[in-house]
Amino acid sequence: LAEKLQKTLGKLKGKGKLSEKDVNNAMREVKLALLEADVNFKVVKKFINNVKERAVGHEVMESLTPGQQVIKIVNEELTKLMGETQSKIEFASSPPTIIMLCGLQGAGKTTTSGKLAGLFKKNGKTPLLVACDIYRPAAIKQLQVVGSSIGIPVFSMGDKQNPVNIAKAAIEYGKKNGNDVIIIDTAGRLHIDEDLMNELENIKDEVKPHEILLVVDAMTGQDAVTVAETFDNRLGIDGVILTKLDGDARGGAALSIRAVTQKPIKFVCMGEKLEQIEPFHPDRMASRILGMGDVLSLIEKAQASLDAKKAIELEKKLRNQQFTFEDFLEQLQQMKNLGPLDQILEMIPGMGSKQLKNLKVDEKELVKIEAIIQSMTKEERQNPSIIDGSRRKRIAKGSGTSIQDVNRLLKQFKETKKMIKKMGEMEKAMKKGKFKI
Ligand code: GDP
Ligand code: MG
Repeated sequence: LAEKLQKTLGKLKGKGKLSEKDVNNAMREVKLALLEADVNFKVVKKFINNVKERAVGHEVMESLTPGQQVIKIVNEELTKLMGETQSKIEFASSPPTIIMLCGLQGAGKTTTSGKLAGLFKKNGKTPLLVACDIYRPAAIKQLQVVGSSIGIPVFSMGDKQNPVNIAKAAIEYGKKNGNDVIIIDTAGRLHIDEDLMNELENIKDEVKPHEILLVVDAMTGQDAVTVAETFDNRLGIDGVILTKLDGDARGGAALSIRAVTQKPIKFVCMGEKLEQIEPFHPDRMASRILGMGDVLSLIEKAQASLDAKKAIELEKKLRNQQFTFEDFLEQLQQMKNLGPLDQILEMIPGMGSKQLKNLKVDEKELVKIEAIIQSMTKEERQNPSIIDGSRRKRIAKGSGTSIQDVNRLLKQFKETKKMIKKMGEMEKAMKKGKFKI
């Protein structure tokens, strides 16, 4: 999914102007990519509509880099789809907090119980694991192995007791032992069936867990979503833990579960090792899916300090060859906090890294450049061609730099203008249909 989205949106990235048709075409491809990734089709439809509605509006068309704006909107809508903010575990005001894990067989309940316990232990809690899977051969042993490897006690009563009784006894045991989090590992089935649901309901009624978390295998795509819906209808789950994300290249489950069930994903697991669990952050997941985190953070930074209207003015000036050192200085001052200049320049439509190779500006150089421009007179800034030898000497002295520094800047400025002119000509030629790329 990430690859497809990147390819589609990458095409928009460098575009200066976007027509409604561009957006529609891109959205058609995004839609296909999402469907192929096994995202629920209703979710896809709503998502695409949301993005389109925002993308064809003025917000995008008037901005400096519409393509990047669309990427930003897609990212925001992806984040929204997955719940916007991180959903945390609600710890009980009077411990112990009781967490019940449920899910189909092989989803990763037992492994995840251990992972959660390890995570809580790191945060200063004293968890207790409870072995309530009495059916699967060696299930208890498995939990004991997990527990001992991370130094967490495991409560079990063998496989002859009923899981409801085991859970009940475990809570009493935990209270006596000062365990502030009790994690109940339950049995699963290959498919959802009445027996399983009844048993889980009975455990729920007996111990009244603070959190019922459903463990689902991300690799099962839309099936994971169906499972989540069914469990939620019967048990009323509080959240989802998505496992095996390491094997899920498509991301369909991650994108649909929240939208379909209204229940948040709380944790994600990306491997069999016990430390491979993370709290789920919708925004990080969205950026990961888009694979454009760098572009996104740059847009955010730029938006924070660059006035869009001013930026458009600047672009016009650039194209009309009216760009002077005055404008340059103003830009420098605005961009000071933005980061590497070449990256900023890349945001200007049509400026690829290739064109920028020749005018790479070192960060430390910026300070120098600013000083040099500040030492120029107004006239000199507007018409650099009048800067002769003696003026260069004066400027160097006034800015505390060398004549070589001044020369270099003048040369760079000239090259930049030349390059912009060339780009402008190319664009004109393309519009006339002389050649296509
Ligand atoms: P349960 O039947 O729900 O208790 O599932 P288990 O905890 O026994 O896990 C089933 C299998 O999935 C085991 O082989 C685990 O090692 C594996 N597993 C669990 N979580 C992950 C994960 O996040 N990534 C990968 N690759 N494997 C996992
Ligand atoms: Mg198990």
